[in-house]
Order: sequence, then C-alpha cells, then structure tokens
Amino acid sequence: MDKRKKQPDSEIERCVICGKPTEYHADTSIDKRDCYVEGAGQLCRKCFFEIYLKNGNEGTN
Ligand SMILES: [Zn+2]
Repeated sequence: MDKRKKQPDSEIERCVICGKPTEYHADTSIDKRDCYVEGAGQLCRKCFFEIYLKNGNEGTN
C-alpha cells in the first residue's frame, strides 16, 4: 500500500542528505529546480554545493 501522509510539511521537498526543507514543493517541476539530482532527489543548496561542486572545484571557496 502506498500511504501518503498529507501534512502541511509533506508538500515541501526535503534535502535527501540532511533532511532540511528546501525551497521547493513536491509539485514543483524538476525542470524548475536547482540542486535536484536525478537518481538521488532534491538536495538543499548547501549539500548540493558540498557534494557536487566542491569535488570538482576544490580550494575555491
Ligand atoms: Zn542538505
């Protein structure tokens, strides 16, 4: 069974890494999102930066 809880919070996409709420809602098209990773999910900017940008761009800060 696919139970979907309807909570006020559940409409907010949470970062799959740290669990913090992002600025995007579940019904926001992924085309319009930043920091969305196919196969992983929605990341917050901080995690996205640390995981995907830091790697290829070390020392720039
Ligand atoms: Zn995060």
